[in-house]
Amino acid sequence: MPESPEVIHARVAAAVGPDGRLPMPPVADWETFPWELVDGELMPKVLPEPVAAEEPREGRDGVDCKLCDEGESDPQRIWESWNFHVKAPAAPSGFPLVLWLNSNDHLDFTELDDTQAAEFGQLSVILTRIMSNMEHIGRVHMSRWGDGAEHMHAWFLARPARFPMIRGSMALEWDAMLPPGPEPVWRADLATVARKLATHGGRALV
Ligand SMILES: [Zn+2]
Repeated sequence: MPESPEVIHARVAAAVGPDGRLPMPPVADWETFPWELVDGELMPKVLPEPVAAEEPREGRDGVDCKLCDEGESDPQRIWESWNFHVKAPAAPSGFPLVLWLNSNDHLDFTELDDTQAAEFGQLSVILTRIMSNMEHIGRVHMSRWGDGAEHMHAWFLARPARFPMIRGSMALEWDAMLPPGPEPVWRADLATVARKLATHGGRALV
């Protein structure tokens, strides 16, 4: 069962004190971070001219693709079916659960055929429902960007309940800031998700 908001808050207080701030995550150094301090005031950065072409993404055309290279033997897979698998990070992050729903074959999201697209839709709702119904989960956000890697991967991010600041699109930044919870709790929750998802099809791997 995911930890309560009170336990999460106590871990933050234990790390930095009740009035302390968590360390700044690396997002502020990212090229995509849209704001900067100007004379002590946070301002939008000046938008540069467009570049000549988009950067190639990781695993272009299946070459040097991490998801393909890891394949069926990937120890981070927690569930799989014929077309898709669910993968967890190597270690817990700040959120109670973060999972990816990925295609087994090297496909861009726009390359899913009608059958795969229908399965993706069903799995997305079922996986979101399973994660949302876990204790102390406030909401499960799902997203698909695909700007970094070509191989289709969709994010399922379970935010903790009852922190009004940790909501909406900015909630994701808290996943990188909150101190990770204990690994045994996280692994038990991964097994719960995999087992419940397998009742709808596919097979649990943890
Ligand atoms: Zn691939």
